[in-house]
Amino acid sequence: MLSRVHTVGLDGIQAVAVEVEVDLSPGLPSLSIVGLPEGAVREAKDRVRAALGNSGFQLPAKRIIINLAPAHLPKGGSSYDLPMAMGLLGAMGRLPVACLEGTVFFAELSLDGRLRGVPGSLPAALFAKKNRFPHLVVPKENGFEAALTPDIQVYAPETLTELVRHLAGEAVLPPLPATDWRTWKEESTPEVPDLAEIKGQEHAKRALEIAAAGGHNMLMTGPPGSGKTFMARALPGILPEMTLDEALEVTAIHSVAGCLSQAKPFVAIRPLRTPHHTASKNSLIGGGSYPRPGEISLAHHGVLFLDEIPEFSRTVLEVLREPLESGEAHISRTSYTVRFPAKFQLLAACNPCPCGFLGHSHRPCRCSQAQIIGYQGRLSGPLLDRIDLCVDVPSVAADILIELPSGENSSSVRLRVEEARRVQNQRNGIGVRNTELNGKALQNHATLETTARQLLLDSGNRLGFSARAHSRLLRVARTIADLAHSREIKGEHMAEAIQYRVGSGTWGKEM
Ligand SMILES: [Zn+2]
Repeated sequence: MLSRVHTVGLDGIQAVAVEVEVDLSPGLPSLSIVGLPEGAVREAKDRVRAALGNSGFQLPAKRIIINLAPAHLPKGGSSYDLPMAMGLLGAMGRLPVACLEGTVFFAELSLDGRLRGVPGSLPAALFAKKNRFPHLVVPKENGFEAALTPDIQVYAPETLTELVRHLAGEAVLPPLPATDWRTWKEESTPEVPDLAEIKGQEHAKRALEIAAAGGHNMLMTGPPGSGKTFMARALPGILPEMTLDEALEVTAIHSVAGCLSQAKPFVAIRPLRTPHHTASKNSLIGGGSYPRPGEISLAHHGVLFLDEIPEFSRTVLEVLREPLESGEAHISRTSYTVRFPAKFQLLAACNPCPCGFLGHSHRPCRCSQAQIIGYQGRLSGPLLDRIDLCVDVPSVAADILIELPSGENSSSVRLRVEEARRVQNQRNGIGVRNTELNGKALQNHATLETTARQLLLDSGNRLGFSARAHSRLLRVARTIADLAHSREIKGEHMAEAIQYRVGSGTWGKEM
């Protein structure tokens, strides 16, 4: 007796078809699983056997072979438990084989026969929709993310027994109501602080607006407590809203990473990820024997904030360079490579010196010259090359703060950012931000008025810009001109861009 069940495996954030075939034949009683890695086979056998037994289905005394195809696809994780159990029930004649057709099964089983949560239910649902499977069965805790996908019926039973009774038509379960992603957008909005809450810091807020408008990576330097972290948290609130497709892609990454919950099944607001400086290379880039996305992929279409960036290990910072260029994280294993999307905006912050008070208005710096040089030398040149904007965030005395009026709302800043992005879409191509302009495209799109050209030449001669520094200045000046609705880069735009150049403050002596 042979039965077939449909499920999926994960390749990055894509779900790909996997078929589970179960064959029962007379012979010495045995259970073998073909197509799973060796360690996974042992655990899966134990779970499936116990889950079925505790649900009242003893395996028959026959020769049982379970085959997971295609063989070449690297498979890991525990989501094959449920499809294997369903295949066994079909082959044992406990379920009509026909009721297994048209359904994708995706869940781990606990020993007592419950369906347990697994990463990747949203990609599984997107697969079911694309391949015209009308039904999907996932664990209850993953039901909401799966139900984001329209046009398929999602069932989220708690136990194997419940599912069997449903499929046999004895106690039919209702499909889950579709999850409305708009409600999650409203629920997530209060998490993002408003720029209006920051008093003063007009120079830094202006730099943040430029960074948002052109997608530029930015480094903020300032003493502790000057508001760098608050500015970083406010950045998603001035970035353009994600489209539904972008939000689904981001949610799929969070699904594969196992970061979604019933309380938060959808990432509706651009993510902000803030890994600690002790973060390992794997947690940042992604990893594991069955690779999962890391922080840079969880920040896809959003912001990666590295606070106290000189405290990160140099090897960790070095591995950021490639994804910053390609917008992808590549995780290599012996026989295959997994890719996760990782197009993020880098926001970094640091103190000016180890104690934090170098250049402070009324607190003395206690660091030695050697300590200061050592601290500032920790950021590598190649990483600084990917940072377009550099801004000082000084401390503001409390008595001055009280006098200052509230700042502008994030929503009105976002309108200007969105307008600048529209201009970039038309000129650079859809989705190409100014920060991505290079070579010929940069030359074509960053046309300079005479005064701007003269300014660039003068400061280049005076400060000895490298070619890379020159490109960074052009990109930032292009964004400033876009915010000012100007086709050409004027002198005032170039003058402002020069203020934000990397190396104007303490960092990056190469300019
Ligand atoms: Zn100091």
